[in-house]
Amino acid sequence: MDPVNVIILAVGSELLTPFHQDTNSLYLTRRLNDLGLDVSEKIIVGDEFENLGKAFRKAREEADLIFVTGGLGPTDDDRTREAVSSVLKRPLEFREDILRTIEERFLRRGKTMPAANRKQAEVIRGAEVLPNSAGTAPGLWIEDEAKIIVLLPGPPPELQSIFETQVRTRLAGRERAFLVRRVLKTSGLTESEVESLIEGLYPRDPARRLTILASPGQIELHVSAFSGVSAAEAERQADALTSELGRRLGPAVFSADGSDLETVVGRLLSARKETVAVAESCTGGLVCRRLTRIPGSSTYFREGFVTYANQAKIDRLGVPARTIESFGAVSPETAAAMAEGVRHVAGADYGLAVTGIAGPSGGTAEKPVGLVFCAVADAEATRLEHSLFLGDRTRVQDQSSQKVLDMLRRFLEEKSSR
Ligand code: ATP
Repeated sequence: MDPVNVIILAVGSELLTPFHQDTNSLYLTRRLNDLGLDVSEKIIVGDEFENLGKAFRKAREEADLIFVTGGLGPTDDDRTREAVSSVLKRPLEFREDILRTIEERFLRRGKTMPAANRKQAEVIRGAEVLPNSAGTAPGLWIEDEAKIIVLLPGPPPELQSIFETQVRTRLAGRERAFLVRRVLKTSGLTESEVESLIEGLYPRDPARRLTILASPGQIELHVSAFSGVSAAEAERQADALTSELGRRLGPAVFSADGSDLETVVGRLLSARKETVAVAESCTGGLVCRRLTRIPGSSTYFREGFVTYANQAKIDRLGVPARTIESFGAVSPETAAAMAEGVRHVAGADYGLAVTGIAGPSGGTAEKPVGLVFCAVADAEATRLEHSLFLGDRTRVQDQSSQKVLDMLRRFLEEKSSR
């Protein structure tokens, strides 16, 4: 059985500027996926009547279920109702009862309804009205030639409340396929290294899909599987592919349940009842921020130092002045001394350290921008790695924080499996 084809059409000229993001479609996609419905296309279109009509006509030709968000407001540039009405050739009908609800909403707040809001009481013929308790524009549910068209207001709280209270239950049972998703997150490999390790595993049948998403220091593998038979069958298909991917990628995989790296590190430290302290020189506190973002982190996070000046490394962490003089602040020797020093000063089980050149200035031929040394020390040993990260300052910092957290994660996993 074919899965339902879903298209989301986000309406709003502001969504075509760099200042507003279409977050409604992200929300709808997540909730639809939970119901086993996969989104095949998203379209963003401005407020112009012609363009809106054209985009909706295309969506209607291709999809079985169409969400149109935004453009249901009272102003002249809110044309969604008119455009959909014209494409479906169903006239707009004025509804006194909706007008009264909108008027009452204004009255409750001690205001008189502006005349412009009258048009929000217009309903496309044959549509079911989805009342909006969070705003004035109601949503509309239209069944037309075996297709379902759902119009929802643009403000996210209004869209979400109508979806949760009225759309979700209407959709339940309409899905023709079961959809299951799995996400494997990896660290320490480049996208091309991941690609070559998983060669031959890209599914050929349309019921399974594999996509790779890359972000600084992290490659994610998203697996989805459909089944027209049962959720259990879709799960079996997704699990078979996920476990083969996990086998190929080995210890680079840090999570198979959606957890981020700092959560995984936190879980490992908690399970071992151990603590960590951090010394940062090019990440400005980012490693500490990531670790302490996790609820409950105060049980394993001891303290952190952001030591940029050489003297700060000497005074706060006990890095020997001679180490910095002989090898420089950005060197494996200084990184190791920082990790060992912060571990000692904080009385923690592990000391983490990052020192590098985040750029854009400060690089030399010998020590270029992006050169970063990360160190992890425990009572017995200090692990060191050097990296040459590409990208701007923020990207170098993101990758550095990912690197040092991943070193600790691998260290902890190895110790736990001994
Ligand atoms: P209103 O009655 O508030 O005018 P509307 O349905 O006409 O509702 P729009 O005017 O298109 O909605 O958008 C109202 C606000 O909702 C926008 O300023 C924007 O902040 C937000 N919004 C609209 N569409 C989206 C979207 N796709 N993602 C995130 N926010 C959105």
